[in-house]
Amino acid sequence: MKTCVFCRIIRGELPSTTVYEDDELIAIRDIQPQAPTHILVIPKRHIPSLMSAEEGDVEILGKLLYRARLIAEDEGLKAKGARFIINHGKHGGQTVDHLHLHVVGGKQLSLTLS
Ligand code: AMP
Ligand code: ZN
Repeated sequence: MKTCVFCRIIRGELPSTTVYEDDELIAIRDIQPQAPTHILVIPKRHIPSLMSAEEGDVEILGKLLYRARLIAEDEGLKAKGARFIINHGKHGGQTVDHLHLHVVGGKQLSLTLS
């Protein structure tokens, strides 16, 4: 999508700190990290939200989750733990309408969801 911030990063129009990239996915460091590790794993195809995903997206959803798992291990988060987050919509706190999975870790995270 033309104005979508993640599509612009994927097209190379905006800078990012990329930690992984293949034909289908990119992973970048969050610009406002909430923990020592805060990485966004993003399908290159513009899917607006998890709630827009359809049956045909099952493969990319699996790849998204598995890549998050590999990145968490690369970041040294396997032993002490991490959080894998997908926000949807206003109540869910989604601010960028392009599906992305947050990999967050490197400190004790609070259980508070609000
Ligand atoms: P969400 O609130 O789940 O939609 O998450 C969007 C995330 O994207 C937030 O954590 C933002 O800090 C992050 N973000 C927004 N713009 C950029 C950018 N240009 N580069 C990296 N991360 C970004
Ligand atoms: Zn997009």
